[in-house]
Amino acid sequence: MFAPGYHRKFILLSILFWPLLVRAENSRPAGLITLTLNATEISRQLLHAQLSLPVDSPVVTGKYYRNVKLVESAPASEMDIVADSPDALGLPAEKIAQYQRLVAEAAALFGATHYLHYHFLVALAETIFHDGIEHHESSLNTATENAFTDKDLLATESDLLPHEFVHSWNGKYRRPASLTTLDFQKPMLDDMLWVYEGLTEYLGSCVLTARSGLRNGVLSREWLAERAAQLEHRSGRTWRSLQDTVDYASRLYAAPREWEDRRRGVDFYPEGVLLWLEADTIIRQRTGGSKSLDDFCHLFHGGQSGGPTVKTYTFDEVVSDLNQVCPFDWGSFWLQRLNSRSPHAPLGGIEAGGWSLTYTDQPNEVIKTRDKREKQTDESVSIGLLVKEDGTVLDVLAGTPVDGAKLAPGMKIVAVNSRTYNPERLEEAIKTSAQTRGIDLLVNNSDYFETLHLNYGGGLRFPHLLRNSAKPDLLSEILEPRAR
Ligand SMILES: [Zn+2]
Repeated sequence: MFAPGYHRKFILLSILFWPLLVRAENSRPAGLITLTLNATEISRQLLHAQLSLPVDSPVVTGKYYRNVKLVESAPASEMDIVADSPDALGLPAEKIAQYQRLVAEAAALFGATHYLHYHFLVALAETIFHDGIEHHESSLNTATENAFTDKDLLATESDLLPHEFVHSWNGKYRRPASLTTLDFQKPMLDDMLWVYEGLTEYLGSCVLTARSGLRNGVLSREWLAERAAQLEHRSGRTWRSLQDTVDYASRLYAAPREWEDRRRGVDFYPEGVLLWLEADTIIRQRTGGSKSLDDFCHLFHGGQSGGPTVKTYTFDEVVSDLNQVCPFDWGSFWLQRLNSRSPHAPLGGIEAGGWSLTYTDQPNEVIKTRDKREKQTDESVSIGLLVKEDGTVLDVLAGTPVDGAKLAPGMKIVAVNSRTYNPERLEEAIKTSAQTRGIDLLVNNSDYFETLHLNYGGGLRFPHLLRNSAKPDLLSEILEPRAR
């Protein structure tokens, strides 16, 4: 089946594989519902299917199931939700309407669809790996059991499905040539993930999430501020370029959270958002508002609507299509930003969009919700610390007060200013740090206890976007709905 040298497109599954599928169906535990991408349809197609079809068609299984029709006319789309409890299936009607708008907004953004029938497969449980995996005519979206019922999570973190949906166009239909290998034995190259994932994060997790109403304008700006601040304070930027995080992606995806500040992570997701936002504002400015990145998406991802096909691209083709929409030195634009070792994040898009990154003592709503979900406290831009709810240090940002005090990942904070550690006491200590002239942390360092003194008096500090009235509000224009 994996015959080397034969293009996977031309490898057909034979009827001999059919009994395996039947056996898999019969051996599932009693009481579980199994859903495949159009189960009956795929079973029929399997008789003569290309190998890539079942490889690209995931299965979800769960005890409780709900089907939500999003669009009934062709190309239809629906949501198949499985969960560990019946209550977890309670996605509110208002959110369903926003997911319906997501499908319409995506069609308006790209101008064509490349699926015949799209399934959002959703699994909500605590015991599974939480992530999203893109496919041509479906996506597998796994999240916490309360992801569709907790109002804070629904308000701030509804961008998983839009992100995976965008991959149907950006990643599946348009795919980097270096990721489109002849067969499944050839290693793929990651060099274009700043388009594959960076542009998907911008279009899916930012633009379409806002245009569909899944995240409102205020929270969209909080989300952007969090991304921008995270990158602005990342010390690894001075030795590792963004392109290097892209090239090293297969390792960075699996890298631990500890020491991420110095090592960098899969930064092409958040930094891709900032860079494609900047590209969007440049097109808007240089064409006097007559063109935008939407026009690039029409050109690059649009074409003829129909079933799944793959159209590969290279760096030069991305540059050439951008130039068709708006003549500019796009080659230098990308190379400079991809290879930069500047300590600062590329904030040009936020600034050209009419906003600036600022810090106040008021919580950032997106950070607050994420901290609750991850059971952690993110004090990166105040004292430079990311810490688990139980006091275990996850990361220490270079050059910050916690770094100066010699705190390090793996240590456990036991007490704050002589009282037993909890997240509320840490927050209170930061808040009153100007009066107390610093913070004392008692830490357990591999069975040895020591008290570390933080030289800090800056109080609480969280990132936000501040409107710059001297410039037009392009960011809000970008996030406005387009579909009629
Ligand atoms: Zn992705």
